[in-house]
Amino acid sequence: CTSKDVARKVHSQVLLVVIFACRDDPCPVKLNLIAGAYRTEEGKPLVLEVVRRAEQQLANDLSCDKGYLPIDGLADFNKLSAKLILGDDSHAMEDNRVVTIQCLSGTGSLRVGAEFLAKHHEQRVVFLPNPTWGNHPFIFTLAGLSVQYFRYYDPQTRGIDFQGMLEDLGAAPSGAIVVLQACAHNPTGIDPTLEQWEQIRQIVRSKGLLPFFDNAYQGFASGNLDSDAQSVRMFVADGGECLIAQSFAKNMGLYGERIGALTIVCTSKDVARKVHSQVLLVVRPMYLSPPIHGASIVTAILKNSDMYKDWTIELKGMADRIISMRQQLYEAIQARGTPGDWSHIIKQIGMFSFTGLNEKQVRWLAKEYHIYMTYDG
Ligand code: PLP
Repeated sequence: CTSKDVARKVHSQVLLVVIFACRDDPCPVKLNLIAGAYRTEEGKPLVLEVVRRAEQQLANDLSCDKGYLPIDGLADFNKLSAKLILGDDSHAMEDNRVVTIQCLSGTGSLRVGAEFLAKHHEQRVVFLPNPTWGNHPFIFTLAGLSVQYFRYYDPQTRGIDFQGMLEDLGAAPSGAIVVLQACAHNPTGIDPTLEQWEQIRQIVRSKGLLPFFDNAYQGFASGNLDSDAQSVRMFVADGGECLIAQSFAKNMGLYGERIGALTIVCTSKDVARKVHSQVLLVVRPMYLSPPIHGASIVTAILKNSDMYKDWTIELKGMADRIISMRQQLYEAIQARGTPGDWSHIIKQIGMFSFTGLNEKQVRWLAKEYHIYMTYDG
């Protein structure tokens, strides 16, 4: 920057100013509760045992090289990733109407999908849940789409505003893109029930909306990969179109490997062929080809039945620990006779909790106890 003043302004415009406040806090026992990243008891990132084994295997395999991957990434990775979310018996895959391309984690998958839609989809409006992950509006706006919101969270009940959601989706223009988080909604921790998903599916299909699933937490909600994929599979089973952005950051702990996939389910093999070639044209000028290491780790785990089983055990361990952390937090709050109803802490799902704390309380926690979270609690 040209001056300290400009630097301060740039800094203050960054959404997560609180991240910098936490980073600059010298207190040795500070707690950073901002990022959606799993941590060990010691507050360190966890490297899964199965990931270590896969890396060892890759290191010993002399046939592994560091050449460029094709524009759409590692073919085995794409097939196995699609199978993971769509299921072993997916008719859409059997019919060859599924396009999957390796992308840079969940964010990159969303961005490639958004760029593709901005170029080729006739309706340029995208509806996001209110609230949603803070990066969603930036991703879609920068791709050239116009962002609107549908009601999702009801602060009164600290639950889903289902009626509001149905009304807003029902009023959306035909063809509008709707971003749905497949499970473990960020930031509310509240997911629709299966019956509610079915009603959402009906309204999305009857209005001709285009669902774009953000699947960043498969396995983290229930501890079971198939259960957490049910919302997506319900939509794919009806034969309609959808997009799915998939991330291995959380469920394999591969945050820094930036490994994920964009899947586009089409209505026919012919459409899928055209979509595939157009997505390649989106990727090529952006980063030419995706990184090889994370894709090789994921592929090694997904294609070996022993490693796959070990992964599901470790994943369940993480999901169960999150559930137990919620319970412990709830019990500690109760034990101190804290006023108010805190049952939402144990009702919410996945990594995120909408605590119900306001900005004043959040600032006080940071000042007095060095505990940092976003200002909306
Ligand atoms: N989608 C949601 C809802 C998220 O919470 C996140 C990360 O926190 C992402 C996508 C993107 O994660 P990544 O790009 O690390 O896979």
